[in-house]
Amino acid sequence: MRIVLLGAPGSGKGTQAKLLVEKYKIPQMSTGDLLRAEVAAGTDLGKKAKSAMDAGQLVTDDIVLGMIQTRLAKPDAKNGFILDGFPRNIPQAQSLDAMLARLGQPLQLALLVDVETDVLMKRLTGRRTCGSCGAIYNIHFSAPKTSNKCDKCGGGLTHRSDDNENTVSNRLKVYQEQTAPLANYYKAQGKLRTVRGVGTVSSIFKAMGDIIESQIRPLADVMGKIESAALRAAAKAKAEEAKAKAAAKAEKIAKAAAAKAKLPAKKKVVAKKAVAPSKAKKKLAKPAAKTKQKIKTKVKSKAKAKAKAKAKKVK
Ligand code: AMP
Repeated sequence: MRIVLLGAPGSGKGTQAKLLVEKYKIPQMSTGDLLRAEVAAGTDLGKKAKSAMDAGQLVTDDIVLGMIQTRLAKPDAKNGFILDGFPRNIPQAQSLDAMLARLGQPLQLALLVDVETDVLMKRLTGRRTCGSCGAIYNIHFSAPKTSNKCDKCGGGLTHRSDDNENTVSNRLKVYQEQTAPLANYYKAQGKLRTVRGVGTVSSIFKAMGDIIESQIRPLADVMGKIESAALRAAAKAKAEEAKAKAAAKAEKIAKAAAAKAKLPAKKKVVAKKAVAPSKAKKKLAKPAAKTKQKIKTKVKSKAKAKAKAKAKKVK
């Protein structure tokens, strides 16, 4: 499933994205997380992005588009993804559509997590993140049992540098101006669904799960059925082709065998014909020789008889 999570900073979409990853076993792609990793690693890209991030402004489109393109090309993106914090403006959304069209994997759902601005403000300024396991707390709404210590792994909690009041109000302003129009962009595509992002994490997660199930599952099932029918048809066509090839081969072999079987018979005929004249000669030659012998014997006996008669006359 291919989802974009929309929502202002502090709407809780990052927290929900992590739960969706666990449930649907597809990766979360957060441009904010990717950028923070670049900043922490001190890369050129991180250095370029840092000043915009610290000021609560958007990083340039070419930087985030490059990062997303690289991320989408990874093998784990084949089964789907949850985009979190991207796209942040209309040009990014258009570029994403183009990228996904090239991959033949269009977006299925844009899920907007809707929260009032005053709640967002408290959430952002009160947010604390575990430096070890990434668990998120809020000192106003969901404080850790021990101050600044992760309940899950005991790691230290950090306050994001862009979660101070000045930067937060800037980020919310940028959201209203540049990101909020994406709701209409996806509405026009018939892909927008909204969930109210206030309440317990689990109740919001359930509402999101219900929307995903009703929007994507039926579509995924239909697509799955179409795909398996196409696969079955392709397999059948392949099997028939193989069968036809085998039949053609068998026919060729049979013809060759028949031709081979005829060949010695012809040879015999040819041999007979070849032998026949000499035999015929012999046959013809035999009576001729016998006749010659008979004539010779007759001549001899006639000569003998004549000689006898002559001898008698002399006596
Ligand atoms: P986030 O964690 O999503 O609130 O992002 C933190 C900061 O990273 C933002 O205030 C921006 O400066 C920058 N950022 C994250 N995603 C984007 C994006 N898609 N386009 C531009 N800048 C972004």
